Order: sequence, then C-alpha cells, then structure tokens
Amino acid sequence: MISLNEARKIIDASVNKRPGIAVSLPDALGCALDEDVIAPIDVPQFPSSRMDGIALRFSDLKGDGPWRLPLQRTIAAGEMTSDSLLPVHAVKIMTGAPLIDGADTIVPLEEVTFEGEQALLHQRPSKKSSVRPRGDDIVAGQRLLDGGAVLEPISIGALASLGMTSARVIPRPRITVFSTGSEIIEPGEKLSPGKIYDSNDGLLRTLLAMDGHRTAGHRVAIKDEPSAILISLRECLRSEDLVITTGAVSIGDFDFIPEAVFQMGGKVIFHRVSIKPGKPTLLARVNGLWILGLPGNPVGVLVGYHLFARRIIARLMGINWAPRSASATLACDLDIDSDRLCIIGARLEETPDGIIAHPATRQESNRLSSVIGTDGFIFVDGGTRAVSKNTKVHAEWL
Ligand code: AMP
Ligand code: MG
Repeated sequence: MISLNEARKIIDASVNKRPGIAVSLPDALGCALDEDVIAPIDVPQFPSSRMDGIALRFSDLKGDGPWRLPLQRTIAAGEMTSDSLLPVHAVKIMTGAPLIDGADTIVPLEEVTFEGEQALLHQRPSKKSSVRPRGDDIVAGQRLLDGGAVLEPISIGALASLGMTSARVIPRPRITVFSTGSEIIEPGEKLSPGKIYDSNDGLLRTLLAMDGHRTAGHRVAIKDEPSAILISLRECLRSEDLVITTGAVSIGDFDFIPEAVFQMGGKVIFHRVSIKPGKPTLLARVNGLWILGLPGNPVGVLVGYHLFARRIIARLMGINWAPRSASATLACDLDIDSDRLCIIGARLEETPDGIIAHPATRQESNRLSSVIGTDGFIFVDGGTRAVSKNTKVHAEWL
C-alpha cells in the first residue's frame, strides 16, 4: 500500500497533458493555452471618443473663452466619416465613435452648453482629452497571453476583442463515469430486497460539472460480472481519455475491475492507498485510457474525486492544480482509530482568527448524509488516539 503523497507523485509523473487543439472560445474556459497569443490587430483599430461629447480642433480655441463653435454634424458609434472637420467647427460625437479627421480633442457633453446648432464652451479642455488612440487597449504584435495561461472569462473576452473565435488549448479530457454493483438500482426505479439506489453517479457527475467538465451519457450501473465490466471498459477505450468507476475495486469475490484491466492488457499504476476512506483506489492505464477505480462507498468516492480525479484531470489538461488549503483549528475533539491517513469532511469556517474546521460527526464511508453541509476536508494522521479541540490540522476546500 502506498501513501497519499506517493500516489500524488505517481500521478504527476505518469499522467501527461493531452495534445493541443483549437477549441471554440466559450468551450476553452478553464483550459490552458497551448501557445502564446500575439495580437494580430490593434484594438481599437481607429482613434475614437471615450465620451459622449463634442470633438474639436484644439488650435481653434484662440484667445480666452467662452468659445462658440458651429456643429458640423453628429457621429454615432459604428459610423465612419469620410469628411474632415471644418475650420473652427465642432462635431457631436458619441462614445466609441471614430474621431473625425482634423479633430484632436473631445469635450464631454456635461461641459458643453448648446444653443441651437452651436456649442458653447466655457473652459479650455486639455489637448487630446477624451481621445482614445488607435491600439489604446491592445497593440498589434503585443503578447497578450502566455502559453500555459489558464483561460478565464476576462482572457476569453480579450481574445474575442481580437476577433478570435477559438484558441489553441489543451482540451478538457473526455470523461465517462460508471457505477458497478449488482445491488445498485437507478433512482426512480422500484427498490427490491437487497438493492440500494445509486448515489455515486449523481455525486460524481455533479462534482465534475462543478469543475466545468462534461461527461458522456449516463450509464446504468454495471452488474458485478467480469464480461459486463469488460464490455463497458472496452467501449471507453475508443472514445474516452478517463473513466471513473465506483465499486468492484477491492478484494471481494466480485471486485472485477483489476481483473478487467489485466484482461485488456492494461497496466495497474497503483492499487490501494493508505487513506481512510478510499483505501482500495486504483489507477490503471489501458492504451490511451486512464481508469480511476474508486471504491463503492459514496464518501470514499467524494474523497477520491477530490484527491485523485481532480489531480489526474489537471495533469491531462496541462494545469498545475493544487486545492485551496489552509491550516485550520479543530472546533471539537476527534477520536481517530485507523492506521491510515484520515480524511474527514468538514465545514471550514472563515473567521477573523483564522479557519475553524467543523468536522462531520459520525462520518463513515457509506454515510453520505454525514458530510452534507461540509465544504472541505481535514487531514489527520493515522493512529489510535484522541485529537483535542483547537489542534491545528491541514484543511482543503472541496
Ligand atoms: P464495493 O466497493 O463495490 O465493495 O462497494 C462498497 C460499498 O459501497 C457496498 O456497500 C456497496 O453496496 C456500496 N456502493 C457501491 N456502489 C454504490 C453506489 N453507486 N451507490 C451507493 N452505494 C454504493
Ligand atoms: Mg461492489
């Protein structure tokens, strides 16, 4: 059995990023750029007005004011003028409208009074005021974003301002999820004796959705039969980069996932990690497909998603991921009775004195209800002992 840190190191050393491809901008959210983005154009492409105002020629303001300038016309945003500003005239100009040839200064409407078709100006503006030069935002040739940068909405908006519709990124992996277990029934179906509803499918899919990942279509839980598991895994070989399974990964008589990996000619990268919950976790690779086998108990699935799935997915996406973490103060006493590293769901409260961790009471790997309301985990070394209130523990947010 390996430690959590060893498992993390193995993931980092063995899971590599996928090749880059062009992905449409909205879909590239959260993905790392596979190349630097060099601006192909100036933004904006023309000098324009920062304000609704009047545009004038600064040198027309002779002597002391007030100055009276006849209005030549109005320029709206989107309109390109072909004429020039007449001597000692002004134009009305709207925010974002191109500056008329000959004008060099803009005075906001608030500082102008109008008398019929004339603008009256009482104070001398400063030269070039409120003029947005060409390339004010981005200059052609400028390196706007570095390769490796993770695209968030601001960068996606900036790429769109360059006219781009897609970006070359490391795409999100194609992920599928399936539950195993002959006892597992779809929610909505009728329960029969000995059966339980599938909580893992909904849990995993929404954890993935929360992180911005889409999953392939829903599958009904796979029966604990070697051929059924083999068929399902083989299907993933063609279409997926990562499959996350739950159940059938331990040492029971019907835990067929490790056997299926072997049958497909795959390689188990690790199996069993010294953590509680989640000990039977398995990572395997079959050709291009990664298989993360999480044990069936739902709290183990939650912990396994956070510890392993997120790390594997980040590696596939070429992203240096680390959970948000802190040192937290325990809000109550805890009894530890496991020689493995214990990962306990906790509500992490931010207070002026730091983070207070309220651990789940009655956490057991099967009791999903025990972690309702938690938003993270605390990590407590194994042993048989009491850990007292106010002890500092490592905490990570989900
Ligand atoms: P396994 O890892 O297959 O030995 O399953 C461990 C425990 O988790 C058993 O009590 C299973 O019934 C339960 N379990 C497995 N899969 C699910 C699931 N999808 N939803 C809820 N409980 C499950
Ligand atoms: Mg099972």
